[in-house]
Amino acid sequence: MTTRTSPLRADIDLEAPGRRVGHVRLPNSVHESAYGWIPIPIAVIRGGEGPTVLLTAGNHGDEYEGQIALLKLVRELDPARLRGRVIVLPRMNLPAAAAGRRTSPIDGGNLNRVFPGDPDGTVTEQIASYVASVLVPMTQASIDIHSGGSSLDYLPCAYARLPADPGLRARQRAALQAFGAPRAILVENPLTNNSMSATALAAGHVHFSTEIGGGGTTRPSSQAIADDGVRRFLAHLGVVDDAPPVAAPTRMMRVAGAEHYVYAPVRGLFEPAFELGDVVMRGQLAGRIHFPEEPERAPRELHFAGDGVLVCRRVSSLVAPGDCLAHLASDL
Ligand SMILES: [Zn+2]
Repeated sequence: MTTRTSPLRADIDLEAPGRRVGHVRLPNSVHESAYGWIPIPIAVIRGGEGPTVLLTAGNHGDEYEGQIALLKLVRELDPARLRGRVIVLPRMNLPAAAAGRRTSPIDGGNLNRVFPGDPDGTVTEQIASYVASVLVPMTQASIDIHSGGSSLDYLPCAYARLPADPGLRARQRAALQAFGAPRAILVENPLTNNSMSATALAAGHVHFSTEIGGGGTTRPSSQAIADDGVRRFLAHLGVVDDAPPVAAPTRMMRVAGAEHYVYAPVRGLFEPAFELGDVVMRGQLAGRIHFPEEPERAPRELHFAGDGVLVCRRVSSLVAPGDCLAHLASDL
């Protein structure tokens, strides 16, 4: 990793007023395309004086609410009525998004594990480097919109790594409530320090992520949370005047450490003993892993290590050691 500025640039002017849509051109010389480049879509909508907001989706390519919400936003935001600038990357990891996969088919990279990237690194590291060293420094606020992807399904929520600075923490809290997801989960022990969120918060952004649904699809209810939430975030920042009202106050929750997670210790078929949204207690049965190659063998029982609400579950029943099967969150 390096902090050197990425040499990549968008082929549109990000400074002038109005709406422009173009690409960040990432050179990729391969067998099929000797002088080729990867066209990562980028849009800018700029109006009058105001903050610059960065909205990203497709960090993981198989998470769709954010990609769809940002495509709508690019078409619908009116620069004449905007105070500030909105920069949109609807498919930040384009190779992964085009393949409908969490990770890049080019280099296997998980974009949300390689920030702040490397301008001389792999394709995925170069994308992270461009966002971290070019876009983040021109921005004051951002959301990186995620869902559970193909392997996980979430109760729709905003999902926030906590900034160290108490002032920024308070501004993040206010923005989470303005976004208006049914719940916001504050993450006390993030799974990585190399995420878009870690980079944006280190830069002092009012920032959070989301986990809106999952299972490699989208639903009207989860799509509406993304569509309306980004508009409410922009209204909260004073960038737009109007946004859909919040249906109900956001339930503030926390996810702690290992006691809130259930992982598979062995290979087999997982039979969950819970539904998303269930309230569970420490010691309660989480489910059983069956051994299909040994029909006479009793299944392995798994139990919850903490109390909380079941907010995330694995989609596939086929599990291997190390797979996350479920995680909990508890009320603040
Ligand atoms: Zn994701």
